[in-house]
Amino acid sequence: MLSKRARALKPSPTLAISAKEKALKAKGLDIAGFGAGEPDFDTPQHIKQAAIDAINKNFTRYTPASGIDELKDAVIEKFKRDNDLSYKRDEVIISCGGKHALFNLFEALFEEGDEVLIPVPYWVSYPPMVELTGAKPVLVETDEKEEYQVTPSLLKRYITRNTKAIILNYPSNPVGSVYFKENLEAIGKIAVENNLYIISDEIYEKLTYDEYEHISIASMDNAFKERTIICHGVSKTYAMTGWRIGFAAGPSEIIKAMANIQSQSTSNPTSISQMAALAALTGPQDFITVMVDEFKKRRDYLIKELTSLEGITCYNPRGAFYVFPNFNAIIGKKYKDKTIDSSTTWTEVLLEDFLTAVVPGIEFGKEGYLRLSFATSMEVIKKGVDRIKKAVGELK
Ligand code: PMP
Ligand code: GLU
Repeated sequence: MLSKRARALKPSPTLAISAKEKALKAKGLDIAGFGAGEPDFDTPQHIKQAAIDAINKNFTRYTPASGIDELKDAVIEKFKRDNDLSYKRDEVIISCGGKHALFNLFEALFEEGDEVLIPVPYWVSYPPMVELTGAKPVLVETDEKEEYQVTPSLLKRYITRNTKAIILNYPSNPVGSVYFKENLEAIGKIAVENNLYIISDEIYEKLTYDEYEHISIASMDNAFKERTIICHGVSKTYAMTGWRIGFAAGPSEIIKAMANIQSQSTSNPTSISQMAALAALTGPQDFITVMVDEFKKRRDYLIKELTSLEGITCYNPRGAFYVFPNFNAIIGKKYKDKTIDSSTTWTEVLLEDFLTAVVPGIEFGKEGYLRLSFATSMEVIKKGVDRIKKAVGELK
């Protein structure tokens, strides 16, 4: 019989929907896909070339389990350049994707009896990853009026003697909300007073719109930095989801524990991908601006079109590449003889009857909402929006 842990675990719903979308497309169906949270842009040429060069130079053997020094130095330089943060080599680890860095971090920190605060809506993998360690995810319901940020008073309501950490993700998946300086300051102080770790998932740092500027909580105060572990990676910034390189920075004791877990499980992240990530972090950065400008156009279009539907509202994301419209107005309506009783049923109707793939809000802890990724072409977005409008029009 499978372990209790394995029996309790279901696959990542975002990855499952992306896989379903790809399988339907392979069958020849014209799917408008809003499922995948991965840039539709190709990895820039100079990054691909660095990987090709690595192969040709036979850089194809084991590297140190926690990553090569050159890449750690590039990560250190990135934190200095972008966040005015100073780290040493033993405070940085290279992992097989941002998800892997988070997984190892949770394994290093959490155990039975611990509580971990997770703001809702959350990225799908946080609660299962916390549960795998035996710790308890504590869901902290945030409010759209507060731009989905955890406020100090809200946070205080959820802290108990067992609270070990809070997970912050900004810009966030799925809403694209960010944290304002005042709130980060207050959260940092509460973390210090209550001896909490801060897990700061900043993987969408570079994908921000309008006037918002990303501030890492670790950079605000040394006392915050001492208890913060930043999880990050190259997947989103450089359109490198398949290369599987993430990184984390934080107190050396924690980074060392993560490295031990890595050395007993995956060993090093792929040597070739590490060389590609090195080129990404140290090479020209202008590609990012081009990508962000395009994402912004798509965001503006989606917000305009979706909110033109009667009763549908949508937070205007300040970062990342998702919109998270509130479809509660249609819950309870019927499509043919099927009642739309949840975001999951609504997602099924959109996929099966309107060939449009989206992710149900409930997977992010919010019923009545849908997540649409706009990391897909404008052509697909326009087609998908027309189909969603048609679907809404056919509800009774
Ligand atoms: N954190 C968040 C919030 C994400 O959306 C993702 C993307 N799936 C990740 C971490 C991990 O990304 P990756 O493993 O591709 O680096
Ligand atoms: N983070 C992306 C998403 O939320 C990729 C899928 C995943 O890793 O869950 O869609």
